[in-house]
Amino acid sequence: ARTVLVTGCSSGIGLAVAVRLAQDPQRRFQVIATMRDLRKKDKLEEAAGSALGKTLSIHRLDVCSDGSVAECLASIPGGRVDVLVNNAGVGHVGPVESISVEEMKRIFDTNFFGAVRMIKAVLPDMKKRQSGHIVVVSSVMGLQGIVFNDVYAASKFAVEGFCESLAVQLLQFNVCVSMVEPGPVNTDFEVKLLEEVSRSEFPGTDATTLSYFKDIYIPASQEIFRTLGQSPGAVAEAIVGVITARRPPFRTQTNPLYTPLVALKYADPSGELSVRTYHRLLFRHSTLLQLSMGALRCLTCGC
Ligand code: NAD
Repeated sequence: ARTVLVTGCSSGIGLAVAVRLAQDPQRRFQVIATMRDLRKKDKLEEAAGSALGKTLSIHRLDVCSDGSVAECLASIPGGRVDVLVNNAGVGHVGPVESISVEEMKRIFDTNFFGAVRMIKAVLPDMKKRQSGHIVVVSSVMGLQGIVFNDVYAASKFAVEGFCESLAVQLLQFNVCVSMVEPGPVNTDFEVKLLEEVSRSEFPGTDATTLSYFKDIYIPASQEIFRTLGQSPGAVAEAIVGVITARRPPFRTQTNPLYTPLVALKYADPSGELSVRTYHRLLFRHSTLLQLSMGALRCLTCGC
């Protein structure tokens, strides 16, 4: 069985993928399900059922701590990780004026440096063995920025750039890198974001911007989660597909409904089409369906 280490398994996509792999009917995986805070392990234990202690073990791992990463890897029998699934991540929304650079660094510390720290930790061994697979749960926002998600998108772009560069070198060592890019997924992620929004005072933000954010962006975002949102199980299934592929793809978008929106960027290298479409989406109240259809028309007519 291949040893798969997954980060951020106390909830959402991480939990779903750890359980799905541990319950694999063909028993192809030994899962090291990790989380920052072991007091949050009940949900995972319950979902893992009889796989717990057999094909799934739970370990503590904080992706923001060198010590925690080293300790976790040292506790793995044989120390061997065949597949690393970098899933741990935090969301963040809000007008940039209200976000301190310290807070921005905190997002990067998890979403970018957290993934980088994990990759650096498993890389030497994978290179030596000339085998291994690094999977990163990125986002469509790693490909296309979204209004009021400036810092989050930047952190996912950063990890995309890092991995796109690394993938070339690693191919020479027979180590694969795969980015998985979900659109909206119905997990605690959005719940946590909305909680943060309701708590924050957004200091330093003018009333107009704040109104765009709270009265236009937030409802539009909720609508998008409601209409396009996937289940964590569907994303887990896509990740299993990537892990088991004979030739794992570098990029996988998990949500076909979202793909036309990302494609705008590639259809028009000037970037005008995507910037203006997203502007219309937010400020002209076009429905997502109208925009997707418009985007598809543009793609097919090549304008
Ligand atoms: P989630 O909040 O349920 O899961 C994120 C997990 O990461 C949590 O269990 C959290 O405890 C963990 N985590 C945070 N900081 C950590 C740290 N320092 N060390 C270890 N674990 C840490 O949300 P999710 O939707 O399951 O998110 C999983 C991944 O999917 C994230 O990388 C997120 O950016 C990405 N993603 C989510 C969505 C979405 O709409 N939910 C869309 C695209 C991408």
